[in-house]
Amino acid sequence: MNYRKLGRTGLKVSEISLGSWLTYGNTTEKQTAIQTIDKAYELGINFFDTANVYARGEAELVVGEALRKYSRESYVLATKVFWPMGDGPNDRGLSRKHVFEQAHASLKRLGVDYIDIYYCHRFDPETPIDETLRTIEDLVRQGKVLYVGVSEWTAAQIAQALHVSDRYLLDRIVVNQPVYNMFNRYIEKEIIPLGEKEGISQVVFSPLAQGVLTGKYKRGAQLPEGSRATDPKTNMHISKYLTDDMLLKAEQLQLIANEMDITLSQLALAWILRQPNVASALIGASRPSQVEENVKAIEVQLPAEILEKIEEILGAN
Ligand code: NDP
Repeated sequence: MNYRKLGRTGLKVSEISLGSWLTYGNTTEKQTAIQTIDKAYELGINFFDTANVYARGEAELVVGEALRKYSRESYVLATKVFWPMGDGPNDRGLSRKHVFEQAHASLKRLGVDYIDIYYCHRFDPETPIDETLRTIEDLVRQGKVLYVGVSEWTAAQIAQALHVSDRYLLDRIVVNQPVYNMFNRYIEKEIIPLGEKEGISQVVFSPLAQGVLTGKYKRGAQLPEGSRATDPKTNMHISKYLTDDMLLKAEQLQLIANEMDITLSQLALAWILRQPNVASALIGASRPSQVEENVKAIEVQLPAEILEKIEEILGAN
């Protein structure tokens, strides 16, 4: 495994990290989930991602149970707060009350004394940024959180937060978690340049477009058995990537992967890791073999002519 520094911090995270959305505590059986996390750990992945809202706390329980047997120093654990955890008016968002309560609930479910990275899962227009940043600062001072992150905030929102933290000498955002894959490159325009300037890394989710960039979905063919697309609990999330245009591009990209004697998932992940501002490609995996295949992406170098060919395919409509 290779490790990259997270933003301006001294923390090092594995280039491939493992998440738990839609899988652990949900569609993936607990034993398989634990075996998948174990496989990731064995292969050098030291960075695990979850959120309070994933399967309403169930994902945190599984991730916490899987990691408990390893020394706390040996892994970096991230979780998040924002999305509703109940029906009450204060069961959501980034208010002092909700962030404080959810941080403690996450610590309990995960069974750890501290969270390495605590993400604001979305921007909350109803709470002043300083209220949220001060609450996380308090959690940092109490030793319950180490680093502050945000997820899917715009460049303007991140810049505003940096202004507030610099003004009040609060801990700065050091990591952002946006979507980034061959089909969704919006962060290249403003988010990556801002990250480079301010020492904020990107830890990017859905790097495989939820499985479409593994090549297993084919135009005109039946959906693969046991995949995210066939499970009624998850298929609505992947549907945005199952368009004819994206499936055609995946087929064309597959030919490049074949030429290089690698898999499409390895090509897609190596392409992401070409960006120095990306600290880690945050994959999902429903079984150990997927992790085994995907981590090999760290060995893949993409020469300029391959990058050009990829660009031609992605650029064509
Ligand atoms: P991916 O794009 O990596 O998709 C993962 C899914 O693709 C797997 O669950 C599996 O699905 C399939 N897959 C992965 N590898 C292979 C392989 N080698 N061969 C065949 N199929 C494969 O990422 P996700 O969309 O799952 O997101 C990753 C993580 O990012 C999440 O777990 C979560 O932690 C985080 N996330 C954060 C968000 C945010 O708002 N901050 C939003 C979304 C995700 P299957 O086998 O079921 O078909």
